[in-house]
Amino acid sequence: MIVKQKETKSRFLKVYVRNLENKCEKCAPSPYRINPIFFVFQFCASRDHARGNAALVKEIPGLKVYGADDRIEGLTDKVTDSQELKFNSINVKCLFTPCHTAGDMCYYVWEDECTDAPAVFTGDTLFVGGCGRFCEGTAEQMHHNLTKVLASLPQETKVFCGHENTIKNLKFAMLVEPENEKVKEMLSWARARDDDDKPTVPSTLREEFDYNPFLRLS
Ligand SMILES: [Zn+2]
Repeated sequence: MIVKQKETKSRFLKVYVRNLENKCEKCAPSPYRINPIFFVFQFCASRDHARGNAALVKEIPGLKVYGADDRIEGLTDKVTDSQELKFNSINVKCLFTPCHTAGDMCYYVWEDECTDAPAVFTGDTLFVGGCGRFCEGTAEQMHHNLTKVLASLPQETKVFCGHENTIKNLKFAMLVEPENEKVKEMLSWARARDDDDKPTVPSTLREEFDYNPFLRLS
């Protein structure tokens, strides 16, 4: 399974999954594509992620828009916590992570008989070096989402988040843990990436445990 982040940095991250059997080279609108049909996995009802779904549904016959929140524009298939979906050899597990909005869902994706690392699409729940705002939830919920739900995934899982907030997040991490060498290293790496207009996504869960203060809380 090949999961790619667009190489040009943007505030809104776009990624796609390529199933090796399908050899799909095209980039998806959001958040990823599996040949030969488009699927949209929606993190939340926020307009910054869901805007445009209705137009896509109109334009692409049979397009399925998966999500956990009835407020998601263009929603066709409502999913629930721990629900698993299968697309050829690609598997998707829905992980309910309410807090940023009351209907946030993360998606854990892996391929059968594939040695590549799995991926998790975390929307506005887990960011590189930080986490999302608590728009419709509590700190307790976010803590549970990060340290119980997402932390239970394999450590090598690649983290694809919904926004490029890495530098801002790591500056905050420096305030929390000024002596953490991993935070310092990551911040200087992220700044260099920024200078080259390159994304800092994905990271891995293992890396997040090294520098993300919200995962390091005990
Ligand atoms: Zn967002």
